[in-house]
Parts: sequence; C-alpha cells; structure tokens
Amino acid sequence: MRIGVMGGTFDPIHLGHLRAAEEIYWAFELDRIIFVPAARPPHKEEEIEASALHRYEMVSLATVYTPYFSVSPIELSRPGRSYSVETLREFRKLYGEESTIYFIMGVDAFHGIATWKEAKELLSLAQVIVTARPGWRLDEVERSMIPELQQLLGVPRFKYVKISEITSEIARKRYEPGLVLLVEVVSLDISSSEIRQLVKEGRSIRYLVTDTVAAYMGKNRLYQPGRKLADPLR
Ligand code: ATP
Ligand code: MG
Repeated sequence: MRIGVMGGTFDPIHLGHLRAAEEIYWAFELDRIIFVPAARPPHKEEEIEASALHRYEMVSLATVYTPYFSVSPIELSRPGRSYSVETLREFRKLYGEESTIYFIMGVDAFHGIATWKEAKELLSLAQVIVTARPGWRLDEVERSMIPELQQLLGVPRFKYVKISEITSEIARKRYEPGLVLLVEVVSLDISSSEIRQLVKEGRSIRYLVTDTVAAYMGKNRLYQPGRKLADPLR
C-alpha cells in the first residue's frame, strides 16, 4: 500500500490542509491519506485551544465525503507528548515492509524540523514530502541547510518537483532514505490561527473550512470568547 500521513494540530482543520493532501494523493498515486491530529504536540501545547477529541472529530467531519482520507486516533491514545517519529514507527509496524509511507508536511513545519524528536530517524522511516505554503519559499529549504543542520538530519538530499510534472514513474520511484521531496502544490493562504481569530471576532469562516466543520464549531461553540476553560473535554 502507498500511504500518506499528514500530522498537525488541526485546530481546526481547514481547506489549506485538505487541498494540499488532495494534490499529493493524486500526484503520488496513493491509496489513502491518514490525518493524524497531535494530542499533545511538544512545541504548541500552550497555543492549542480545542481539545484533542474536538480536533479529532473535526478532521473526521472534514474528510467524511472523501473515501481515501481518514483520521487516526493513534496520538490520542498514546500517553505523553505526541511525536511524529513514534507514529511513523507504529505505522511501519502496522502496514508492513511492503507499504511505502509518505510523510506530508508544509514547508513552515519543515523549517522547524531540527527541534523534532529524532528528526534524522524520521527522515529514514518515511518518504518526506514538503509542500508549498503561501509566505514560505520551497527553494529556501535547501539553502537553509547549514552544516550543523545537515549533520543533525543525516545530510538529506532534496528534489524539487512541480505537481504537474510528476509522472507515474516519478511517483512510484523506489524510496531513497534521506531524500526529501519539495513539492509545489496549489497552496491556499489559510491558517488555523486566522480561523480562530475570525471566530473570536464574530466574523465569517465560510469557505475556509468545510461546512461540516463550521457546523461542528458552531454547535460546540469552539474558539468563541470565554469558552476556553469551559470545554469539558480538555
Ligand atoms: P496554526 O495557525 O494553528 O499553526 P496551521 O494552519 O499552520 O495552524 P497546522 O495544524 O499547524 O495548521 O498544520 C498541519 C500541517 O499542515 C503542517 O505541516 C502545515 O505546514 C500544513 N499546512 C497548514 N496550513 C496549510 C496550508 N494553507 N497549505 C498547505 N499546508 C498547510
Ligand atoms: Mg502551523
């Protein structure tokens, strides 16, 4: 099987996440993409507003009409902090050697990879795909590789590909450990923080999240002022 894995806090999941995943799914001829909400991400704990369960529910609702998208509770059920490297190890065990795992992350997330747990190991457990995001340049990634970073990550190599130029042969090429694919997707200028801010200000979030997610947010009064501590599922 060819499996895409996309981690994130998804607080909430929005069309930027979904569109990037959709493009990678088709370009790399994947069988499915699994979204993995981080329950307790090490770098973000203070910033997170909705409980892990609410964020999980929203990913589930956002992907309800897409048969090849699913959501995994793997980081919700694991105690302690949520580390992608542990998730990838578990997926490798679950899906076996005959499966290829593609770990999809936005370029902003990749810029922080040096601070991730066992970053070098992570690059060897999956084929890493770094996708474009407005405000971030994909071609900066390779240039930002100072020698210390190179060493920490095990001297990764980079390959820049445009989504329209990915042939079946490129998509299914055998996975080379340490190779990071930089993929130019049509990226939408949307962020979860912007959505949370819009809700706080009582402004519209229509067309930034799916209708199912907007309905869920409204029903549970997520991100509305004064609700932070009132959330029973936190
Ligand atoms: P926040 O503003 O709270 O940081 P976010 O919009 O960045 O939220 P995350 O949950 O932090 O969303 O992101 C999860 C993953 O999705 C990361 O790898 C990130 O780079 C990627 N991503 C987020 N937004 C987009 C977007 N608009 N286009 C492409 N990739 C995105
Ligand atoms: Mg982010």
